[in-house]
Amino acid sequence: MSSMASEEETNRRWLRVFLDRPGNGCCADCGAPGPEWASFTLGVFMCQCCSGIHRSIPQISRVKSIFLDPWEKLEVELMSSIGNSAAKAKYEQMVPAFYYMPTHTDCQLLREQWIRSKYERNEFIYVERQEPYSAGYREGFLWKRGRDNSQFLSRKFILSEREGAMKYFNKHDAREPKALMKIQTINATFQPTKIGHPHGLQITYMKDNSTRNIFVYHEDGKEIVDWFNAIRAARFHYLQVAFPGASDTELVTKLTRNYIKEGYMEKTGPKQTEGFKRRWFTLDDRRIMYFKDPLFSRCSISVS
Ligand SMILES: [Zn+2]
Repeated sequence: MSSMASEEETNRRWLRVFLDRPGNGCCADCGAPGPEWASFTLGVFMCQCCSGIHRSIPQISRVKSIFLDPWEKLEVELMSSIGNSAAKAKYEQMVPAFYYMPTHTDCQLLREQWIRSKYERNEFIYVERQEPYSAGYREGFLWKRGRDNSQFLSRKFILSEREGAMKYFNKHDAREPKALMKIQTINATFQPTKIGHPHGLQITYMKDNSTRNIFVYHEDGKEIVDWFNAIRAARFHYLQVAFPGASDTELVTKLTRNYIKEGYMEKTGPKQTEGFKRRWFTLDDRRIMYFKDPLFSRCSISVS
């Protein structure tokens, strides 16, 4: 009995030694410092949040607590032989520059799909698996929130790098799109809370010098994240042409952005004699905009 306990003690001690090796001090998937979990099939150290996602793909990854669970000698040896840096070199060997790599502050959907794309679908080992977002053209159906009500309706969307636009159609057989969103002006940001769906994506674009919003989702998490990365890819290629001198690193920061701040404020009219009205404000980059409500399609005013 005592020798069992001491072997377990030895295993745990070794595991802590490996945890101190370069690369293992941050979560292999989201970069959060101080991992407390590890996958003993993939050989990576990770944060608690990401371990929950690994747990949902048991055919690929089996996780244990570094400090609380008992560890077998063979499992500890596997952790020692791989580790975060070697796993990154394998599973992230061909991540496209435009591809969004989430951090610990991003929504569950982005982190989950990142982990699945790496270890389950091996998208960054086999480049042909990146086709859904790297081909420069994407077509499919998304649920889009109606302009004047909260109903979501199935709409056909097309993203075409060649045309420099993303568009959607109200009728299945319509020839003219209901809206044409220029890639040049598009932003996309996941807004699960605001939209009320874990896969909710807000797409913003400019039309007639005013900011417009559409709110969409797809039941399949991979599909909506593929749309998101396809938009990023199209923006990346557009910016490469528009700013030939800029480095990829500079351009990548301009592909999509989350809002700096959003929330309700009370505002009065220009004469300041009108009553105060509750309005939804968004601070985006260096612009402040306000909307009648959080899911309103058209911005009332924007101030730079
Ligand atoms: Zn993590």
